[in-house]
Amino acid sequence: MKIIMLGAPGAGKGTQAKKIAEKYGIPHISTGDIFRANLKAGTPLGLKAKEYMDKGALVPDSLTLELIMDRFANPDCANGYVLDGFPRTIPQAEALTEALKKNNDEVDYAIDVDVPDEVIVNRMSGRRACVNCGATYHIVFNAPKVEGKCDTCGADLILRNDDKPETVQNRLSVYHEQTQPLIDYYNGFGKLRSVDGTKEMSEVFDAIVDILENKESK
Ligand code: ADP
Ligand code: ADP
Ligand code: ZN
Repeated sequence: MKIIMLGAPGAGKGTQAKKIAEKYGIPHISTGDIFRANLKAGTPLGLKAKEYMDKGALVPDSLTLELIMDRFANPDCANGYVLDGFPRTIPQAEALTEALKKNNDEVDYAIDVDVPDEVIVNRMSGRRACVNCGATYHIVFNAPKVEGKCDTCGADLILRNDDKPETVQNRLSVYHEQTQPLIDYYNGFGKLRSVDGTKEMSEVFDAIVDILENKESK
């Protein structure tokens, strides 16, 4: 099963992708998490990516594609994956389509988690991310059991630099300009499905499972 999560920054892609990965036993691949892990480890890739990430801009396609193609070569991708934060531009989507086509393959679904901008700004200011494992929480909607500590690994939770309101506005503009066109792109292949991302996390998840198991009502 090969799934793409589409949606604005903060729509809940990562939250849902983790649950899908667990349920179906496929890896959750987040390009943002990979960039942040590289940044933390101080690799040349991480340092290059940081310039863009701090501003809320996208990392150039060439760098992103190199990273993701490398990740696809990992044996854990044999049974598919759930992509979170990739593709984010039309050239990235085209490169993915081409790479899959070489193996006579294609994605199963591109799931758009639909959330209006007003709701996003609220979510981002309350998001807390684990410095160690990338798990995300929300101070109101999904609070950790112990304040400031990750439920899964116990490490510290932080407000990401790029989740501050000034940068969030920038990321939303970038989303509307460069990523939203992917909705039409995947709709054109009949792969697009939408869920209402303003619902509670468990309801959003149920809607996604219905889609993946072909039980959606429309
Ligand atoms: P969010 O989960 O809030 O949408 P991500 O963790 O996916 O944020 O991404 C954080 C940042 O990492 C982006 O703002 C961008 O700078 C960079 N990034 C992540 N994925 C991509 C991608 N596919 N192409 C270009 N830049 C990316
Ligand atoms: P994305 O990966 O799309 O950037 P996240 O999954 O990190 O988004 O979610 C952004 C923030 O919103 C997090 O703090 C998360 O806990 C919270 N969140 C996710 N889904 C919901 C939901 N359905 N209702 C309320 N808050 C949510
Ligand atoms: Zn953690």
